[in-house]
Amino acid sequence: QQWMMPLARAQYIAGQEVYIDFSAGVSVYPDDAQDAETLLGAALQAQRLARSQTGQQRLLLRHEILGHTNGGTLSFEAHLQQALQRDEFFLVYQPQQHLADGHISAVEALLRWRHASRGVVSPAEVIPLLEESGQIVDVGDWVIGEACRQLAEWQRAGLHLRMSINLSAVQFNQPDFPQRIMEHVNAYRLLPKQLELEITESAAMGHPEQTLKILLELKDLGFSIAIDDFGTGHSTFNYLLRFPIDTLKIDRSFTNSVTEERSSRTIVRSLTTLSQGLGFKTIAEGVETQRQRDYLEALDVDEIQGFWLAKPMTADRLGTFVASIGRRLCQPR
Ligand code: C2E
Ligand code: CA
Ligand code: CA
Ligand code: CA
Repeated sequence: QQWMMPLARAQYIAGQEVYIDFSAGVSVYPDDAQDAETLLGAALQAQRLARSQTGQQRLLLRHEILGHTNGGTLSFEAHLQQALQRDEFFLVYQPQQHLADGHISAVEALLRWRHASRGVVSPAEVIPLLEESGQIVDVGDWVIGEACRQLAEWQRAGLHLRMSINLSAVQFNQPDFPQRIMEHVNAYRLLPKQLELEITESAAMGHPEQTLKILLELKDLGFSIAIDDFGTGHSTFNYLLRFPIDTLKIDRSFTNSVTEERSSRTIVRSLTTLSQGLGFKTIAEGVETQRQRDYLEALDVDEIQGFWLAKPMTADRLGTFVASIGRRLCQPR
């Protein structure tokens, strides 16, 4: 406290009045974590909480943010810490449709968090926090296990689908990642080719040599590889050729405006031509209207995904949805 006090007063630097602010987070080995990366993540998390606090205490020990479960004031992030063990995560599934014959070819597993007071929280909010704290490794592992379990259940019920799973760079770069994913696949007697692993273009290009190494390993095991949000990162053609890619997913920012903006049309057409030329499957995501769908069909895009077809849904609704699409396909036009 003593050395923090002077900070509350104005300091004068070159005649200017300045207030110096600081916040710190502390994590302790071995109580908070066993390895350097997780320890650092835990400290960062405490630091961020310290920064968001308004009172005197701008220095937080990581253990102070845990275990306050009855306080009612427990922070969002501290709740998130416990979400996995409290079984608050679940997956929703968004169908993908094969344009040539209309069948539902795949579903993408999307993470949701059921927060006690805020309701269902979007992954856009949750994933960055999980990545920063390192928890994404365990949560990502749970996602893979749960998606495999669900895929096996659908398979037993006669519903044959490919399952797309989103991977975060932190998770993907764990040296034992290929082994861990294989354990889930084997546990549910699935084949790696039933899974399509999605990595965003920007994540893939962050450490391209490391990415290449792991992608080759996953490809060797038989997994299908998709580059997600394609067009929003900075691919070099060099890596597009060297990565063992099966699928490019055109980002929804382009798909969305494809019927309104000439520039988006040009980009979607170019990305599709590139993808086809390199022998990849092309999926357009974020398709919201029939016109967008028709335009993409005319470009020979292979599959579409988006609110026009279906929003992400819970597993129990998927069977009914697939059956309704099947009936529509059987009806004469
Ligand atoms: P994404 O991989 O690009 O997933 C597609 C997102 O677009 C989903 O948002 C989906 O609900 C939304 N979307 C689909 N169709 C449409 C449409 O027609 N219009 C609009 N406006 N949006 C559409 P969601 O579920 O909120 O996920 C956001 C992002 O969070 C995902 O983007 C993905 O990057 C990440 N994410 C989700 N689940 C996981 C996960 O298990 N692991 C990791 N690492 N990331 C995940
Ligand atoms: Ca995705
Ligand atoms: Ca995407
Ligand atoms: Ca996205």
